[in-house]
Amino acid sequence: MYTKASLYENRVHPKSSNKLQFSEISPMWSERLNQARDDISPFALMRSRWYHELTISSACVVGEAYGFSSSYVHKCKTCKELGMQFMYYFLIHSDSGIENAKLDFEDHWNKNHSEIKTENENKIKGDVNSHSQIQSCSLSLNS
Ligand SMILES: [Zn+2]
Repeated sequence: MYTKASLYENRVHPKSSNKLQFSEISPMWSERLNQARDDISPFALMRSRWYHELTISSACVVGEAYGFSSSYVHKCKTCKELGMQFMYYFLIHSDSGIENAKLDFEDHWNKNHSEIKTENENKIKGDVNSHSQIQSCSLSLNS
């Protein structure tokens, strides 16, 4: 009965606006999994390379979230299991399985590991700050 109540509490998360998306937690793998789903043929070399990386605890989806570290293996059983789910569903080409694992991981991460500040957050927006150089250039022309 206790577990049922706490499960319900967890579902009604008060700070849903601060929730990280899967694409923010593991941006590189988010991109790869989308590519694997949409573009890449099941027999592509890239796919087998990615599968190999999924078998390495520091390089897999969950490892990326920890900054490409395998520190979670002994700390969090759920993360370890989710890592194996990604590996398994990738192997059997189960898109729905991967989507579910993404949601589970996103959910689990926000509930249990949201204090881990991922440095990945800004990687995606990397190319946006090139306009400041133009401004400084025109300033020196005026003087
Ligand atoms: Zn965990």
